[in-house]
Amino acid sequence: MDCIFCKIIAGEIPSAKVYEDELCFAFRDINPQAPTHILIVPKEHIASADGISGENSKYVSAIFEAIPKFAAAEGLTTGYRVITNCGEDACQTVKHLHFHLMGGKKLPENMG
Ligand code: AMP
Ligand code: ZN
Repeated sequence: MDCIFCKIIAGEIPSAKVYEDELCFAFRDINPQAPTHILIVPKEHIASADGISGENSKYVSAIFEAIPKFAAAEGLTTGYRVITNCGEDACQTVKHLHFHLMGGKKLPENMG
């Protein structure tokens, strides 16, 4: 499958890796929108939030268990934002489920 995030997980494309366990992989966004901008992805290819089900939700649980640890490690004591873009209307560009973790500055109030 020609998926850039699957290739990053496999180590075929370099990334600034932050964390990895058996279920999830985290790396820094190549075009950061905030001082901290980490992408957290499931190690199984799930195309978007629309593909989350009872069969694969353990990946999502693992990601959300890891997020507070990343936030603490990055010193995001005054808050942070977690976003996933799903589909065309949300301008999802990479069709492998990913959660943006952003912080380190006051983020814009308007998200859409
Ligand atoms: P989205 O628009 O929600 O699909 O977000 C895709 C994100 O992936 C964007 O913020 C890109 O900057 C980021 N991105 C694309 N390619 C890479 C890459 N090779 N390494 C790190 N981040 C990437
Ligand atoms: Zn993939």
